[in-house]
Amino acid sequence: MTFTKQSILNALSTVTIPGGPDVVSAGVVVSATYCDGYAAATLAGDAVERLGASGRARLAELCRAAVQAEGKRLGGELKAVHVEFAPGRGTGSGSSESGVSGHAAARPASGSGGAAGAPGPAQNTAPAMAGVRHAIAVGAGKGGVGKSTVAVNLAVGLARMGHAVGLLDADIYGPSMPTMLGLGSMRANLLGNMLQPFLVHGVKAMTIGKLVDPEKPLIWRGPMAHGAFKQLLEQTEWGELDYLVIDLPPGTGDVALTMAQMLKLTGAVVVCTPQQVAQDDAIRALRMFQQLGVEVLGVVENMSYFIGDDGKEYDIFGRGGAERMASRAGVPFLGRVPINMALRANSDAGNPAANFEGASTLPRELEAMIKNVEAQAALASFKMGTERPTLTIS
Ligand code: ADP
Repeated sequence: MTFTKQSILNALSTVTIPGGPDVVSAGVVVSATYCDGYAAATLAGDAVERLGASGRARLAELCRAAVQAEGKRLGGELKAVHVEFAPGRGTGSGSSESGVSGHAAARPASGSGGAAGAPGPAQNTAPAMAGVRHAIAVGAGKGGVGKSTVAVNLAVGLARMGHAVGLLDADIYGPSMPTMLGLGSMRANLLGNMLQPFLVHGVKAMTIGKLVDPEKPLIWRGPMAHGAFKQLLEQTEWGELDYLVIDLPPGTGDVALTMAQMLKLTGAVVVCTPQQVAQDDAIRALRMFQQLGVEVLGVVENMSYFIGDDGKEYDIFGRGGAERMASRAGVPFLGRVPINMALRANSDAGNPAANFEGASTLPRELEAMIKNVEAQAALASFKMGTERPTLTIS
């Protein structure tokens, strides 16, 4: 079947918003993604907000039916069509509407599920952690490749798009969030027995770096690492979140294992620099997530290229290495982040929001990467069963 992202848009352009133009002309399609029989679209904007919850449910139903019909027209049956509304005024923390047919219908669903086009509650976005729609881990094969930088900018960028976002610094051996978020002299507060997250740059953040002596080396044995992660996750007052971004320690250790056993993740983002040695490490991280039953949302190539004062782009590490690695591993490539002096300076100054402003390629590259993560998360939620990941290492 030659179904593509454009096929989704073609289908959506046949669906009219009551009292308005079609969904595509109205400019409410934020993203449309197709992969391996799964189609997902995210809608947002005043034109859909005005419809109210029941109007949006009807619109979602029409969109699903149109996308399914387009699939049939192109000679195949889609396994699933997911239509989601991005949060905004009037839509609370976002809602999603799914219709499942084909093989996907056989998977356990948390709601009534059913045939394509049938109205139904969100099925595969049911969070294992109460109030959290998507939990996304950010991992890397080794330290220093920019994992925390990507995690922070992903969280801040998602928040700038209007999502409710939490950021958990689970890099318990070397927490960098106090610096990268500019937490300075802020202190962690307890209310009852719950830690109150830091409200900075539009995100709710928690880091072990604010709970321990910053100059003390953090040497954790496996069970202690487990306990520290569990406490940060469960004893922080996260509230309702669209995304919880979890910055993992580098490598393939205890924290990732604890996380996968404790929490049903939407998926993981693997950060990698373009060099071959970095790719080898990243592949190990990627395989670890897969062994833990965590969907890999894709790979981000950090320090992809450098833009000189002359405006020329220099491929210092060999741009494209991580993209080729993602392709070999059969996972999506989410985007590239250039080596950028301002990015480093903004991280050191605790001002990540500045990365999204200015005329360089950085804001565009970051936003493109974040939109890809958003789309892959929507798809992964859909493919995900309701069972908690189990360890399958033999
Ligand atoms: P990790 O979490 O993988 O150990 P960090 O995100 O802490 O890596 O990044 C290590 C250092 O490299 C930080 O000083 C950070 O500001 C810098 N850095 C990361 N990515 C970039 C980039 N694309 N351009 C410039 N500096 C970067």
